[in-house]
Order: sequence, then C-alpha cells, then structure tokens
Amino acid sequence: MTVSSGQTYLAIPGPSVIPEEVLRSMHRSAPNIYEGELIEITGSLIPDLNYVARSSGHVAIYIANGHGIWEAALSNTVSIGDHILVLATGRFAHGWAEMARKMGVEVDILDFGKDKALDIHILNEKLKSEPKTKYKAILMTHVDTSTSVKNDIASVRKKLDEIGCPALLAVDCIASLACDRFEMDEWGVDVMVAACQKGLMVPPGIGFVFFNDRAKERQKHLTNVSAYWDWEPRVNPKLYYEYFCGTAPTHHIYGLRTALDMIKREKIEKTWTRHEVLSRAIWAAIDRWSVEGNISLNVKNPLERSHAVTSIRLGEKKGTSLREWLQTKSGLTIGIGLGMSEPGDPYGDGFIRFGHMGHVNTQMVMALLGTVETGLRAIGYKHGKGALEAASEVLDARSKAVGKAFSNLSKSLFFPTLTLTHLS
Ligand SMILES: *Cc1c(COP(=O)(O)O)cnc(C)c1O
Repeated sequence: MTVSSGQTYLAIPGPSVIPEEVLRSMHRSAPNIYEGELIEITGSLIPDLNYVARSSGHVAIYIANGHGIWEAALSNTVSIGDHILVLATGRFAHGWAEMARKMGVEVDILDFGKDKALDIHILNEKLKSEPKTKYKAILMTHVDTSTSVKNDIASVRKKLDEIGCPALLAVDCIASLACDRFEMDEWGVDVMVAACQKGLMVPPGIGFVFFNDRAKERQKHLTNVSAYWDWEPRVNPKLYYEYFCGTAPTHHIYGLRTALDMIKREKIEKTWTRHEVLSRAIWAAIDRWSVEGNISLNVKNPLERSHAVTSIRLGEKKGTSLREWLQTKSGLTIGIGLGMSEPGDPYGDGFIRFGHMGHVNTQMVMALLGTVETGLRAIGYKHGKGALEAASEVLDARSKAVGKAFSNLSKSLFFPTLTLTHLS
C-alpha cells in the first residue's frame, strides 16, 4: 500500500522547509536593480541580520552556499602559509579545514570525536604547547550538522583571552543561526559564517560573513584578498552592485526580507525557545524508542545537543531501508547519516538525522515522530513504546514532566532565558 500522495515533508538538516510567506514574496517578476525598492530592502537586511546574530558588527552577503561562505571567511582572515587551528566535533569542521588547506593555509586539527562537545582542557594544553602568536585564527562549528554536537563558544573565547592568544575566533553557525541561542558580541566571536537555507528558511543561494572591527582591521594587513571575496566593498558599497560584486540575488533578497520579518515577529528569544521545546520532544521520543532495541541519540549530554538537527544511531544497518520506506510510502524525507562512519564500516548504514530547523512547529514534529515510528514498525526494527506520548508530554507545557525538564534546563549556562509562554 502506498499512501504517500499529499503534502510532503522535508525533515533534513538543510535545506529546510520554506514558509509559504517566503515563497510568495519571491514569486514576482524581476525587479529594477538600479533604483527603488530593492536597494532599500537590501540595506534593511543588515540590521536585522545583526539582530538575529546578536551582533553590532558588519555583515557581508554573498551569492553562495555554505561552502562558498567558508571560502569567503577564510579569504578575509588568512593568507597562504598562515597557521590556523580547527576544533572538530564532526564532518563540517573537517570540511572547513580541508578548504583552508587547499587555499595554502597550514592547518592543525584538534579532533574531539563525533558524539560530544569540545574539551576546553585539551584546547588549553594545545594552545600552551604552541607559540602564542602561531595561529591566525581558531575555526569551530557552533553546531556540527553531521553529529548534531553543539559547542560552548563563550568558553573558547574565555580560554583564548586567558592565555593571551590573539587568534581570531571564527565560528560556523550555518546550522544553528536562528535555531540555537547565539551571541556574537557577548561570546566574543570575531567572524561568523551563516547561510540562508537552514534556520533562515530561504532557498539555498545566499550566505553571510559577520565580522567585528577587530577582524576588519586584521583583514587590511593580509598580503592578498581576492577581489570577489573581499568583504570591504560589500559592507561599504559606494554603488549598489558592490554589495554583491555584481548582479544582486534579487529574489533571495525578497525572500530573506520576509523570513527576517517572521523572526522579528516571533522575536529571536522565542524562536530559540521554540526550537528547544521541539528538540526536547524529539529527544524524549527517541529515549522511549531506545528502551528496547538499538536506537539511541548520538549525543548523550542534552546540553551538547543541537536544537536544529538530531543525529541518531540505529545500531543496525537499517538507515537506507527506513529512509526509503519513509520517502516512498509516506511522503517524509529524513536526513542520511553524514560523516558518522568510515567507508567500509559494517554499521555505516546505521545512522539517520532529523532536521528540525526554521519553519517547524508542534504538528510537524508529531507527524515526523509518528511517521518514523510507523516506518520502524514497517521495516521490522525493534523499538520501545510510548514515544509519541513522551513527546506530547514535553509539548504540553502544563505537564509535570516538562516542569522538571525545564527547571533543570533553566539552571544551565546555555539557556538562562527560557520561557514557555509561546506555547500557551
Ligand atoms: C549545511 C552546512 C554547511 C554547508 O553548507 P552548504 O550550503 O551545503 O555548502 C557547513 N557547515 C554547517 C554547520 C552546515 O550545517
């Protein structure tokens, strides 16, 4: 039986679900790029992007996906032969490191594995064992989308200051921006990269390098900055085309304008809280599944879990059959396991990911969980019962279970401002 006709749901960690409102704002004929509305709208994006990133610095916009934005950030922070240190908690940090290497940068990697956040003591030892000025930049992911590990950025800044390491702190927030709490200024981030197709709910196509005055000043001393990636004209355009070093991404500008309006309407703190509550519901369901059988959350410590994506270990080679069942029989697409195993690993097919970033709410998360449970049953995968009940307990803000979960949570460093008022 196939009952997959109807509304499909792409629950992968990017591109994310595009709101109808965003689509409608993009559905228009080509606008004038010489004068008028488009120019004004482009300028209006900058303060609102800063609102989302809690930044008072600069934002350069590029027509590029995340990989392009990685190169943009590197092009403005390091030269050939410079040394950088990459803190890796998954595939994406390694991807950024590889890109740096291909640009002629000397890369050291501290690899913290695939299921937990970085260890500040190991970073401490590494930095103390090297000359203070060796590294021009420290690169890290806020959330690594392959593992769904989230790192404590403020602790890295604190360590750099304590040691007196002058390296720029550059953070990849491509998965986490507008999903997980992020404080560019308060956490002392010098350079941050993001793209539009995840928490920002716009089709892939544009990305952003946020940077502060310190990074801006350093950039002036680089031996060479490519004309196209140079962030200076983009943040200080004399003519409109300099924003994008060429033709503007006209329709993305409209789409992003609408997406930012939606986030401002909700308010960014509540956007974070929504993602947190939905994540907790997903984790609660997976914990119930894991009572029987081999399924488990990849990241054990809830404080080290992303609120945008969840990586799951099946412990059996059933990832492909589950995904195929969901895709063909139900209209639901979930994420492949990415970077969780080496080629040839007998359990290589034992990983899946749920994307829950951006335009996602209670009914979508319950549909995701209920449909995945149906898929697990259909492929004959053993799992515990009561997952939907556990998720609905979390989503019912009046329930005792939630009170408990959230009082623990609000004590944590990560989410001091958590409220549940948006659910009422
Ligand atoms: C998605 C993602 C990228 C890569 O973005 P692309 O648009 O696929 O190039 C890089 N880093 C992180 C953390 C991501 O989530």
